[in-house]
Amino acid sequence: MNIKNNITNLRLNLPTGCKLIAVSKTHPAPLIQEAYDAGQRIFGENKVQELERKYQELPKDIEWHMIGHLQSNKVKYIAPFVALIHSVDSLKLLQEINKQGEKANRIIPCLLQIHIAEEETKFGFSDEEVLELLKDESLLKLHHIKIKGLMGMATFTSNTEQIRKEFKHLKTLYGKIKALSLPATVEMSELSMGMSSDYGIAIEEGSTMIRVGSSIFGTRH
Ligand SMILES: *Cc1c(COP(=O)(O)O)cnc(C)c1O
Repeated sequence: MNIKNNITNLRLNLPTGCKLIAVSKTHPAPLIQEAYDAGQRIFGENKVQELERKYQELPKDIEWHMIGHLQSNKVKYIAPFVALIHSVDSLKLLQEINKQGEKANRIIPCLLQIHIAEEETKFGFSDEEVLELLKDESLLKLHHIKIKGLMGMATFTSNTEQIRKEFKHLKTLYGKIKALSLPATVEMSELSMGMSSDYGIAIEEGSTMIRVGSSIFGTRH
């Protein structure tokens, strides 16, 4: 794996307005440093402890994104520094992020994770649930979070039409929400979709953030 080449090639195919999140989960700090030296500044992790440790070890101008399922009791460990939480899947979690944001004296940017895949194991809101949440009065009191958009993971399948259909669905929901009159805590500007196997489709369908791991760092062990 040549990390620098992989990043350079990915950047060449990235439309303006679409950001690359380098998913560095399970990979050690020296490999992340290699990506950093190739100019990459945004990294995604899916475990709180690992994220915290890498934040300590690596350069301080890295933007760390939390992309994995987050338990409420662990929010406090990342609240002081996390740049974006992609995986918010309940109002309870949002309230805890707000509480920890207040303690850390900052506004924490978040995405709402939407369940778009066929698999039952993937986390996230249904369309109905997210529309309900955005109407919830208690959102108005959360001054230490900012909802910046939506995130979704397509079904793990080789059927590209299925994947495209799921991304189209997420984009449509995103557009529908954008057109609503939204509370001040919500600003729909990011659509996080696409991983190593499907980022090409995701970009065609309007992704603003692709989360790519194995195509940069190689397979995880
Ligand atoms: C691991 C992971 C990715 C990256 O997966 P690759 O297939 O290695 O690109 C993207 N998003 C989430 C939520 C992940 O957990």
